[in-house]
Amino acid sequence: MTPVLIVLNAGSSSLKFQVYDMVDGAEPQLVWKGLFEGLGETAHFIVKDISGTILDHVSWDPSDGIGHEEALMHLVSWLSQFREERKPMAIGHRVVHGGESFSAPVLVDDSVIQRLEALVPLAPLHQPHNLEPIRVVRRRLPGMPQVACFDTAFHQTQSDIATLFALPREMRERGVRRYGFHGLSYDYVSSVLKDYDPRLAEGRVIVAHLGNGASLCALKGGVSVATTMGFSALDGLPMGTRCGAVDAGVIFYMLREMKLTPEEAERVLYTKSGLLGVSGVSNDMRVLRSRAAMDVDARRAIDLFVYRITREIGSLMAALGGVDGLVFTAGIGENDVATRAEVITGLAWAGLAHDEAANRTGGPRISSGSGPTAWVIPTNEELVIARQTQSVLGAT
Ligand code: AMP
Repeated sequence: MTPVLIVLNAGSSSLKFQVYDMVDGAEPQLVWKGLFEGLGETAHFIVKDISGTILDHVSWDPSDGIGHEEALMHLVSWLSQFREERKPMAIGHRVVHGGESFSAPVLVDDSVIQRLEALVPLAPLHQPHNLEPIRVVRRRLPGMPQVACFDTAFHQTQSDIATLFALPREMRERGVRRYGFHGLSYDYVSSVLKDYDPRLAEGRVIVAHLGNGASLCALKGGVSVATTMGFSALDGLPMGTRCGAVDAGVIFYMLREMKLTPEEAERVLYTKSGLLGVSGVSNDMRVLRSRAAMDVDARRAIDLFVYRITREIGSLMAALGGVDGLVFTAGIGENDVATRAEVITGLAWAGLAHDEAANRTGGPRISSGSGPTAWVIPTNEELVIARQTQSVLGAT
């Protein structure tokens, strides 16, 4: 029986999973990955091996009532029945917010769950979904070790000043500060920089995590010194459906003059803004690119996205005192040649030179010349969760 780790990343109606063989003293080895979609409605399960071959898939009717709990139990029983037997030894979870108290991954117990629940108001649209499978496992598989891995933890290296808002001191004391997110992705990129260019691992690097959620992180010697996301996953760059930075006065205007309730305003900022809001068409960069030539609003959404990325990179360069490398990662960063080209071209003043041919084929190096370099590095947040889970288990 091979011991395995399960890595879970739970959303409101989805549950993504990866299964890793645990190898003593070595990197966890991915064997299977898959997801449940449409939980609570028309649920669907699919699992593939590392070559992308579909191993199994199941669809359910809404009347089958497949939610997160049933999905998890289906996965555990699938694991025990499918081909070679694999025995889950631990589960690692992505948890978006670790607040001030969790600066590293942690073995979950009841008190940890309680403290994570207290952070729900800081990430109302993500944290409850992340916690749901943790509670289910606690109830249905009580002996199973679980490790919570945080998107905020990687940014704990930032200075006090980098995390401070210019608000009254008592706000800071109540946890109102910049936390930063996408830390699991930045942790992965930081861990592989040396494989691309050893000087980058020691140097000043800006990582652009551009997916449906988007942020930038400034790394110095591989650790986070500044990032564009702040207190919540709303700040910084425009995203698929999130607004990014807006003047806080806009929110008062929405509440007072436009008579939106706080919940309605929150919904606008999280789910109706960003690429979707500006284009009025889609939050999906592929759709926007395909329509940009004939649809002025699709073009404006892309232009704003690129403009904000380029401006914020300038800000992070100032925080770093210069830049040696720029890394693109996540769905748009890894796949959208045009966004990478537009950002690099906009940074010519900083010495970046776009290598068009290399960019078209995905690099990994997509700059030329002797100035700062630009790279495409695919992220792997799940591997970081597997690494962290293995390391927490090894330490217990
Ligand atoms: P993520 O949240 O990292 O999965 O990224 C989702 C975003 O990546 C969406 O905006 C997709 O449109 C975008 N994306 C994925 N594949 C491509 C592609 N081939 N070209 C352009 N954008 C892509």
